[in-house]
Amino acid sequence: MTPESTAAAARATVYGYPRQGGDRELKKAVEGYWKGGVSAGALHETARELRRANWRQLADAGITEVPTGDFSYYDHVLDTSVMVGAVPARHRAAVEADALDGYFAMARGTQEVAPLEMTKWFDTNYHYLVPELGPDTAFTADSTKQVAELEEALALGHTARPVLVGPVTYLLLAKPAPAAAPGFDPLTLLDRLLPVYARILADLRAAGAAWVQLDEPALVQDRTPAELNAAARAYRELGGLTDRPRLLVASYFDRLGEALPVLAKAPVEGLALDFTGPAAPNLADLAAVGGLPGKRLVAGVVNGRNIWINDYEKSLGTLATLLGLAGRVDVAASCSLLHVPLDAAAERDTDPQIRRWFAFARQKAAEIATLARALTRGTDTIAAELAANRADLASRANSALTRDPGVRARAAAVTDTDARRSEPYPRRAAAQRAHLGLPLLPTTSIGSFPQTADLRTARAELRSGALDRAGYEERIKAEIRAVVAFQEKAGLDVLVHGEPERNDMVQYFAERLTGFLATRHGWVQSYGTRYVRPPVLAGDVSRPAPMTVRWTTYAQAQTGRPVKGMLTGPVTMLAWSFVRDDQPLGDTARQVALALRDEVADLEAAGTAVIQVDEPALRETLPLRSCGRAEYLDWATGAFRLTTGGALPRTQIHTHMCYAEFGDIVGAIDALDADVISLEAARSHMRVADELAGAGYPREVGPGVWDIHSPRVPSTAEAAALLRRGLEAVPAERLWVNPDCGLKTRGWTETRASLENLVEAARQVRAEVSAETA
Ligand code: GLN
Ligand code: ZN
Repeated sequence: MTPESTAAAARATVYGYPRQGGDRELKKAVEGYWKGGVSAGALHETARELRRANWRQLADAGITEVPTGDFSYYDHVLDTSVMVGAVPARHRAAVEADALDGYFAMARGTQEVAPLEMTKWFDTNYHYLVPELGPDTAFTADSTKQVAELEEALALGHTARPVLVGPVTYLLLAKPAPAAAPGFDPLTLLDRLLPVYARILADLRAAGAAWVQLDEPALVQDRTPAELNAAARAYRELGGLTDRPRLLVASYFDRLGEALPVLAKAPVEGLALDFTGPAAPNLADLAAVGGLPGKRLVAGVVNGRNIWINDYEKSLGTLATLLGLAGRVDVAASCSLLHVPLDAAAERDTDPQIRRWFAFARQKAAEIATLARALTRGTDTIAAELAANRADLASRANSALTRDPGVRARAAAVTDTDARRSEPYPRRAAAQRAHLGLPLLPTTSIGSFPQTADLRTARAELRSGALDRAGYEERIKAEIRAVVAFQEKAGLDVLVHGEPERNDMVQYFAERLTGFLATRHGWVQSYGTRYVRPPVLAGDVSRPAPMTVRWTTYAQAQTGRPVKGMLTGPVTMLAWSFVRDDQPLGDTARQVALALRDEVADLEAAGTAVIQVDEPALRETLPLRSCGRAEYLDWATGAFRLTTGGALPRTQIHTHMCYAEFGDIVGAIDALDADVISLEAARSHMRVADELAGAGYPREVGPGVWDIHSPRVPSTAEAAALLRRGLEAVPAERLWVNPDCGLKTRGWTETRASLENLVEAARQVRAEVSAETA
C-alpha cells in the first residue's frame, strides 16, 4: 500500500448516521413487517430509500467520504454476527428458512427460541445484541450486505468507505455460548475469525472500496497484555494481506492509551481517534508515540454523542496540532452519529436562539465539512462560519437559561454536612423501626405498576385535547386508588402510588425542572425499533414547585400503611439526558441534587416516611477506563447523598438499581448511605446478597425475588426459596422482600398473582425465622 499524499485535501467524513429517517420511517416499516402489513420487498425499498437520503444529506452538507454498512434493520453488531456466520445453533433453522426472519428471530426471539442477549454499547444508551460464541463456532464469510450497500453508494456517485465492527472488538464484546465450558474466552477464536475478515476485505476491494474502516472501540477500555497482543496480531495479519483495501482502524469514546502504540505500529494505513471529552488525552498520547508518520489520521473533533455546537476555534487548534503528527489529517465526528438525533432544524417549537446552540447529526455533518474546508484552504475561507459560531457560543454562555445566579450561589454554599444524614445508620434504623413499625422481612415494590392501555389512552387524549386536565387527573387518581387498594388487600407493607402519571422516569422530572429542554423529534435509537427522546439538560437547574408531593399524598390519604415517595436520582437524570458540556458533570449533578433535595424535604413535610431515590444508571455511566472511576463515583455518590442528606433520621431512604453486576461499585453503593437498597437478583439466584454481605454492606437490602423481565409468575415456594437463600447472607432484620424492578411493562394478571405469592412467601419465611428465634 502506498502512503497517502500530504497535499490531498482534508476529507470530511463520519462513521455512521441515524438510521431511522426524519419521520422514523424505518421503525414503521420494520414493525409493519413484523405485523405482516409490510412485505419484505417494501421493507427493503424503504431501507434503500433511507440510505440514499442519508448519503444525499451527508454529501449536501459537504461530507466527502460517506460511510456504508452502518445502516441496520436492528443492530450493527447483529449484522456483524451474520457477516461472520456466527449464528447460534438455536437460530440456524430460522436463518436457513428465511434470512430476514432468521435475523429478526436472533434479535427478538420466537415462541420457541430465546433471542441473543442485549446489552449497552459501551457507556452509551444504545443496546447491541451480544454475539454468542463457543469452541464449536465455525465462522463463514458473508459479505452480501456490506458489498451491496457499498455498491449502492458508489452507484450514486459517492466516495464511500465501508464501516465494520473490527475483529478484536467483536470478540471482546461476545459472551461464551450457553454450551461452552465455563471460562471459555471468545478471544481465543481470533485465528479462526481473521481469515473471514480477510475474505470480506477482499470482497469489498473487488466491489470498489479504496478504504475500509474497522471499528475497535473495545481497545479504549483497560486491556490486558494478552488482549493488546491479540490486537497487534490481528492487525499485523490483516495489514499483511495483499488483496485488501486500505485499512482505517477507528476508536472512540475514550483514549486509546496502551493500545495507541500497538495500533500506531500496525501495518495499517490509517487510524481514527476521538479527541473529545475523556478521549482528549489522545492528542498528547499521539505526540508521545511520535505521531503517525505517513499514515492517515481521521480526527474526531466534533462530539458525536452530544448535541451541542462545536467550538470551531478549539477544534481548529486541535487540528493544527495534529497536522504535524500524521501524513494527512481528515475531519470527523468522534463516533458514529447514531447517538444523536437527526436534525435540529426539525425542532420548530424551540426558541430559534436556543436552536442555534444545537447540532444534531445533520448539523454536525456541516460542522465537519466546515472544519475540513478550513484545514485545506485556510481559516480565512470560513470567516463567516467562525463569526457565527463565536456568536452562538457567546449567546449560550451568557444566556439567562444557562446561568442562574441563585442556583450557582446555592451550589457554591454546599458543605460536606449537607451531604450527610444527621445520624449514622444504626440510630436511623432504630428511629425508622419506631416510626414505621414494619414486620420482619417487609414487603414492597419498586414503584411503577402496569402502564395500562387505559393510561396511555388518557395521556394521548390529554395531548390531543380530547380530555381536559381535570379529566386526566381524575383518571390518574382512580388508578392510584386501585393500585393502593390492591396492595392493601395483597398485604404489602410499604405501598407505592404506582407512578401512573409518569410517561418516563427521567422525562417526568425534566418537564418540571428548569434547565431541561424537551425536543419534539429528537429521537435516538435505544435498541431495534425502540427510540427514545432524551431531554436536553441545557442550563442551571432549579425546581419551581413540588413535583411529586401531590400524587404521593393522594395515595397516602387512601391508606394507613406507609406510601413510599418515588424520585429519579441525579445521576440517572444526567445519564439519560443530553448534558451540558460547559461545566463539569459533577457541578450539574449537584444542581439536580439540590432540586431533588427540596422535593425530599417537601415529601417529608407532607408526611412521607419512606422515600426512594432511583439510581438505575449509576453503574452504566461508570467511565470506561478505571482511572476515571474514582472521580466519577465521588461526585455521583456525593450527588445522591446531597439529595437525601437532609432527611430526618426517622425518614427511611431507599434506592434502587436494576442489575446484578455491580461488583466494581460495591464501595460506591455503600457510600450512598441509603437505608435500603433494592436490586435485581432473581435471575442470579440472590448472588448479589452474597456479594453485598461479603463486602460488609451494613444496611438493608432487598434482592429481587421476582424476575419482572418476563411475564412468568413465580410461585410462593420459589420466592420463599430465594428468600431463604437471601437469609444465608443477610440477617432477617436487614432483608426486604420485593420484585427485581418496576412493573410498568407487566400486565395486571401476572402482577397480581406474583405480588400475592411474594407476600405469602414473606409470611412463610417470617414464621420460620420467628420459630427459630423463639
Ligand atoms: N421506580 C421506577 C419504577 O418502578 C424504577 C425504574 C427503574 O429502576 N428503571 O419503574
Ligand atoms: Zn429497576
